[in-house]
Amino acid sequence: MRRCAACRRIAPKSELVRFARDPSTHQVHIDPDQRLPGRGAYLCPNPNCFRLALKRKSLERALKAKVAPEMLRIDHSP
Ligand SMILES: [Zn+2]
Repeated sequence: MRRCAACRRIAPKSELVRFARDPSTHQVHIDPDQRLPGRGAYLCPNPNCFRLALKRKSLERALKAKVAPEMLRIDHSP
């Protein structure tokens, strides 16, 4: 189980979108297969959580890295 960085909901990993921080470059990538190495953070596949994360910089705080805002403007609704 993992926690959404925006709304704090706990859900199985498979129901969340993973973001991974590359261990060498510290660039944050979206990780659809949930297998990239490095520190990870999760969001619900829900536009509200993406908006909230963008506004509150939740992923930046969770990953301690810059997150490109474009990455959070993608529509991940199922
Ligand atoms: Zn959420």
